[in-house]
Amino acid sequence: MTETIEAPRAQALKQINHWIGGRAVAGTSGRSGAVYNPATGRQVAEVDFATVEEVDAAVQAAKAAFVEWRSFSIAKRAELFFNIRELVHERKEEVAKILVSEHGKVLSDAIGEVTRGLEVIEYCCGIPTLLKSEYSEQASTGIDVYSIRQPLGVVAGITPFNFPAMVPMWMWAPALACGNTFVLKPSEKDPSASVWTAELLKEAGLPDGVFNVVHGDKTAVDAVLTHPDIAAVSFVGSTPIARYVYETATSHGKRCQALGGAKNHMIVLPDADVDMAADAAVSAAYGSAGERCMAISQIVAVGHVADELIEAIKTRIPKVKVGDGMDPSSEMGPLVTREHRDKVASYVENAPGEGADVLVDGREGAPGDGFFLKPSLIDNVKPGMKAYEDEIFGPVLGVTRVDSYDEAVHLVNENPYGNGTAIFTRDGGVARQFQFDVQAGMVGINVPIPVPVAYHSFGGWKASLFGDRHIYGPEGIEFYTRGKVVTSRWPDPATSKVDLGFPQTR
Ligand code: NAD
Repeated sequence: MTETIEAPRAQALKQINHWIGGRAVAGTSGRSGAVYNPATGRQVAEVDFATVEEVDAAVQAAKAAFVEWRSFSIAKRAELFFNIRELVHERKEEVAKILVSEHGKVLSDAIGEVTRGLEVIEYCCGIPTLLKSEYSEQASTGIDVYSIRQPLGVVAGITPFNFPAMVPMWMWAPALACGNTFVLKPSEKDPSASVWTAELLKEAGLPDGVFNVVHGDKTAVDAVLTHPDIAAVSFVGSTPIARYVYETATSHGKRCQALGGAKNHMIVLPDADVDMAADAAVSAAYGSAGERCMAISQIVAVGHVADELIEAIKTRIPKVKVGDGMDPSSEMGPLVTREHRDKVASYVENAPGEGADVLVDGREGAPGDGFFLKPSLIDNVKPGMKAYEDEIFGPVLGVTRVDSYDEAVHLVNENPYGNGTAIFTRDGGVARQFQFDVQAGMVGINVPIPVPVAYHSFGGWKASLFGDRHIYGPEGIEFYTRGKVVTSRWPDPATSKVDLGFPQTR
């Protein structure tokens, strides 16, 4: 046999393939997307975009694997989840570096992302308890009734660029633990973490076909949303796409939870600890370059606290170290793409024309050739301005000044989004009233980013979530299972008789 060894191409780009039936599968569409290192601005990989047929191949692999996977005992599934937990824990830094190289976030933040995802995997190690059912003995004479929850079949996840490891974990971990098989369509901007996950799950002992990855764009998403063999779709991304995904998936008979964008307001009352509020605002607005759905993008300063708070934020901003995420001293990395960086910068550019005041301009002095933008602070931002209405999704913090608590809450409640919100105050009574009044799914009291722990569920209200189940936690288990109620009687010749009446309790 003659072997041909090809000379390596100069600066050959890494090719990122699909993962179907337990192995990497090269795309055949001839269509692909460029993946960049946002810190250098250079392309680092090329990702295959799936055809409708390739999505179908992944679904068929998942459908075939479902037969065996749903029969795995709960004990075996739990054991496998403990293996997965150990492997992810051991190799946290490895995947975190992948996140840094394609997303741009700093390494400590990337490790934080994986750690929060790991909490969901740990929750799923308790699947025997989570799937424990209810039993009513002697509901009628000689009759017992019990409720059980069973998996749906093949389910799919479509995920955003900003948490390329954690958000997929929110989906695949509970889906698999409940006995479903999974097709993931990750963001095309930073797709390597999903392939890393697929390889790790195989190493942990997951049978081939239980977890599949198809990369791509609208073609792949539409193929998922309309596929007759997919029972449910979880989506996380921007609101217009979330709405589209929800409407398309449900009109094709699927269960769907579609989490959308956000505009998270942080109310600061006059009695707040100003230093604590300023630390929280800077951390929550500029962490991960503001590319978090739970980022604080809008401060609502009540009364006289505004000037003091703004001064405190202004003194902190110059100390935020912006740089390559692999540099341990960096606290904030670049944005994900050049286009996104330019779009975010345009809000700062246009703010004065809208009547707002740019107090700190992050377009000045951004380092290197990457997609960097430094933190910006804009005062006197008001409803109606684009800087107020849009989810900017970058390191731009707006401040709105109001006179009262009522005005502040009104602003939050009028906003079309309802993901997260926070209040900073020393007054327990007002904080409690805020929790009662506010229309948002996740509320922080002196906590700026109230992402629920894994044993509660995550989800917003209004345009931040389409569907009626929040993600992960107890609602995640409900989403990925359906109920069945069994009414049972064992033959007892002593009580048996013909009775044509409607069954009644006896
Ligand atoms: P996005 O909506 O652009 O993309 C999300 C997914 O949808 C990706 O997989 C993408 O390939 C796909 N997609 C994009 N355009 C599509 C189209 N026209 N048709 C079909 N599919 C399409 O979101 P993004 O920019 O990757 O992520 C940022 C957004 O995600 C922000 O709005 C952020 O608030 C939101 N987000 C929300 C949460 C939450 O929990 N609510 C969490 C993280 C991110």
